[in-house]
Amino acid sequence: MDGFQPGEECIICQGKCCREHGCVLAPCDLFRALRGAGIPCRMGDEEGQITRETLLAFLQREENLFAIDRMHGGLYFLRMRHKCYNFIGVDAMGECVALTEKGCSLSYEERPKGGRYLKSSPDFHCAQQYTAEMMAEDWAPFQELLQSIWEEYEPKFEADGTFDRCDEEYFRWMRSKTDT
Ligand code: SF4
Ligand code: SF4
Repeated sequence: MDGFQPGEECIICQGKCCREHGCVLAPCDLFRALRGAGIPCRMGDEEGQITRETLLAFLQREENLFAIDRMHGGLYFLRMRHKCYNFIGVDAMGECVALTEKGCSLSYEERPKGGRYLKSSPDFHCAQQYTAEMMAEDWAPFQELLQSIWEEYEPKFEADGTFDRCDEEYFRWMRSKTDT
């Protein structure tokens, strides 16, 4: 498996990175997860190998771990979903849904590329090696697909109060953590 193993410093730090933002996926992470869920798809020639209907159904499952997010420059990509939020990742900050008190609930092999490529450092200046340029190249074939889901659901969740309820639930959860 490519990437960097977490260093000793990650044990001390206990996942500051995971408490701020879910790791970014590469398309190969999505396809691995789809195969793991028994959804037929092929690696390699990935473009066109997943339909909108299949991806949407996958993202809408209760156990879904992923969210569509958008960079300032407009690039759509997938990242780990944040606690209390859904598959449209409008929130800038949040704790990854896979983070537990014992650390990441995913095995190293299951972690998205943005997690495997975060090079930890003893001075905690950890450096992301899965760059924005690499992401742009990897996600280019999926822009239309991700954008069409985003453009259907983002206004809907904004208008019907879904995002407000997510915010409230997140703040409640944050308070419950500080109360304990
Ligand atoms: S990669 Fe850096 S921020 Fe993330 S857990 Fe390790 S030391 Fe902490
Ligand atoms: S998947 Fe694991 S390593 Fe990545 S942000 Fe979530 S808890 Fe952290």
